[in-house]
Amino acid sequence: GYRARSAYKLKQLDETADLFADGDTVVDLGAAPGGWLQVAAEKVGPQGKVVGVDLQRIDDLEPHQVTTMRGDMTEEQTRDRLRRELGVAERSSAANQNAPRSGDVDESRRLSSANQKSKISGDADEGEGVVDLVISDMAPNMTGEYELDHARSVHLARIAFETAQQYLKPGSDFVAKVFQGRDLADLREEMSESFQYVRTVTPEASRDSSSEVYLVGKGYTTAPITEGD
Ligand code: SAM
Repeated sequence: GYRARSAYKLKQLDETADLFADGDTVVDLGAAPGGWLQVAAEKVGPQGKVVGVDLQRIDDLEPHQVTTMRGDMTEEQTRDRLRRELGVAERSSAANQNAPRSGDVDESRRLSSANQKSKISGDADEGEGVVDLVISDMAPNMTGEYELDHARSVHLARIAFETAQQYLKPGSDFVAKVFQGRDLADLREEMSESFQYVRTVTPEASRDSSSEVYLVGKGYTTAPITEGD
């Protein structure tokens, strides 16, 4: 069995959007407790590689192709560790300690405005071309305040998108969970400039619970694309 029911969502996403291939290198963001890691390991097979990142510790998984790390993807040092795990050389060592993210008076507003900007940290250079698929199931801790939960989820999806832009090989795919709301259309629009096409998919297994949907970018390209909806 799988560690999390969410494993079935990834299977459904794969059936809908044909995500995995044998031997793929996959990055899984927000990977705890490991349901998606289990599915990804099956799909890529023994020649593949799956790297999972989460705030929470992930209990060891049997398949040798799975590596996990504990860290916060909103923090530079976690992204640096991921970079090292993927075997990509650092391009500059400019000190970059951004302001802490907690304690803001109006986080929802701040995130919403941050969500309008293109880059979270300015270090997400494009085109390292070492990863076949980036999947993100990252979700914020729910406060019950709809706008805030939405803004946070878009922020996490955007960080995942930047990771995708940094590491995806041309032609490869990206999936990110996001809670529906006002900033979703903008994110989808930005993604459509980097992928052949973008779909919004709601797996059967998501329908009962929540406002979550998955943005699926197919066919990564570093050249800007002009595309209608
Ligand atoms: N896909 C997972 C599975 O199948 O087992 C379930 C993921 S769960 C819905 C969402 C995860 O996102 C949580 O484990 C949470 O810790 C993680 N998460 C939220 N914010 C994060 C962040 N900033 N960095 C890394 N992980 C984060």
